[in-house]
Amino acid sequence: MAEETVRTIDRKARMKIPHTPYREREPMERVNDFEDIVIGYDAESAMREASRCIQCPQPSACVEACPLRNDIPGALWLIAEGDFVAAANVYRQTSIFPEICGRVCPQEKLCEGACVLGKRVETPSLGKLEMFVADYQRLTQGWPKAPKAPTTGKEVAIVGSGPAGLAAAESLGKRGHSVTVFEAAPRPGGLLMYGIPSFKLPKTLVDEKIDQLRGLGVRFTCNTRLGDQVKVDDLFRAGFHAVFLGVGANVDAKLKATGVELQGIFQSGEFLIRTNPPKKYVPEPLREAPKVGKRVAVIGGGDTAMDCLRTSVRLGAEEVICYYRRTEAEMPGSVKERIHAMEEGARIEYLVAPTQFIGDETGRVTWMELQRMELGEPDESGRRRPVPIIGSEFTLPVDTVVLALGYWPDATIGKTTPELKTHDHGLIEADEATGRTSRRGVFAGGDAVTGPDLVSTAVAAGLRAAEAIDQYLAGLNGN
Ligand SMILES: Cc1cc2nc3c(=O)[nH]c(=O)nc-3n(C[C@H](O)[C@H](O)[C@H](O)COP(=O)(O)OP(=O)(O)OC[C@H]3O[C@@H](n4cnc5c(N)ncnc54)[C@H](O)[C@@H]3O)c2cc1C
Repeated sequence: MAEETVRTIDRKARMKIPHTPYREREPMERVNDFEDIVIGYDAESAMREASRCIQCPQPSACVEACPLRNDIPGALWLIAEGDFVAAANVYRQTSIFPEICGRVCPQEKLCEGACVLGKRVETPSLGKLEMFVADYQRLTQGWPKAPKAPTTGKEVAIVGSGPAGLAAAESLGKRGHSVTVFEAAPRPGGLLMYGIPSFKLPKTLVDEKIDQLRGLGVRFTCNTRLGDQVKVDDLFRAGFHAVFLGVGANVDAKLKATGVELQGIFQSGEFLIRTNPPKKYVPEPLREAPKVGKRVAVIGGGDTAMDCLRTSVRLGAEEVICYYRRTEAEMPGSVKERIHAMEEGARIEYLVAPTQFIGDETGRVTWMELQRMELGEPDESGRRRPVPIIGSEFTLPVDTVVLALGYWPDATIGKTTPELKTHDHGLIEADEATGRTSRRGVFAGGDAVTGPDLVSTAVAAGLRAAEAIDQYLAGLNGN
């Protein structure tokens, strides 16, 4: 981090520097492929945009709002000076992949949302500056080689290779522990590979990150679902000293409605797996992209729903509509993603929910019955509850329906691991600061503990747990 004393700036002058937006591909062009939509900054515009940071005294609001506590003012100071590699290294002190977080974090809810400049002028584009310097470093110098401590002789099993598992693996690998990651899917990466669409996150970046971890000595054992043939107890019997559970929350929430089993109705998880990752990484039965027809209805209102809308547009559907049962004010996802979906031609209908699906003689969905809603009293989430308006049912023709209603954890690990406490359909009980679970030597973090959240929060949980696992392993030496 650059010394505080060196950062002498004229705040008023900085606030007058106009905002330089980062570049995105035009909607008409980007809907023709699944490539990254962000072009981002070049060196000159990045320096100009970074020089708008007024270098608030620490701890600044943006740092406090970042789940990883990235030293954002420190990095922006270096970007403004043109020292992009040093800036990338500032992010890498606290983040395992600033190139990924810079792309996918909902910055308007985190660092950018907290930036004090936002009260007066446009907030600097903190996420895309992070992306720019991390990309710059990789493209000019390759992925930095992580320093590694001498081997400790301790073995750690990581279950699940999403952001939480990868963060724990990197941190423990750097500390000299021997790390093996067990992953149910054919490839590592979790939702980075199989959930988040490639137009938001190129899969080459995920692959390269995995290769970097392999270079650190981390081993990946894919196509291995813990809790089935191999259980957590078996890992201890096999000689692992500690286990980290980063199994995410990947089970699609189901809709109870007549006709929901008709062909042409997809759960969002399957829909995105069949369309976004490289085919060679997808299990054989899911390799073919859905033929969506002309009219696609996406049910739900979060970021996953927006991803399914945008994927449907790219699959060639002519009319892509999101049906959400509350209003825009209650929508859980990011405004940025909603804008992207609408720019690409999708529409959103509010206060409406499906009641049944109707198929043709071949068993394929052709019609959908919906019912209008009004808002009632707030529910346990604090948002106003959707209340059906009796007699307001109407039908619409559809060719494809995608259900994007959220995710639950897979309860298998909880059920097959003695002494591991779970709650709410399988969420693992773990201490927030350390990831410690009720079972000695077992730690957990990410969506498996919190329920569906964010990439950055999962990384933060993996890093916190790695710290605690390191201390736990050190304690074993004394026994
Ligand atoms: C469609 C979609 C889009 C999203 N977009 C964004 C976004 O733009 N920005 C953002 O910040 N967040 C986004 N998220 C949320 C983010 O992806 C998750 O919060 C994050 O990936 C959680 O990380 P994790 O490591 O806890 O779990 P996951 O990424 O879910 O990884 C868990 C891994 O564990 C594996 N696993 C599960 N059970 C077992 C088992 N028994 N044995 C072995 N392996 C197992 C799974 O196969 C998976 O690979 C999105 C989520 C979805 C679904």
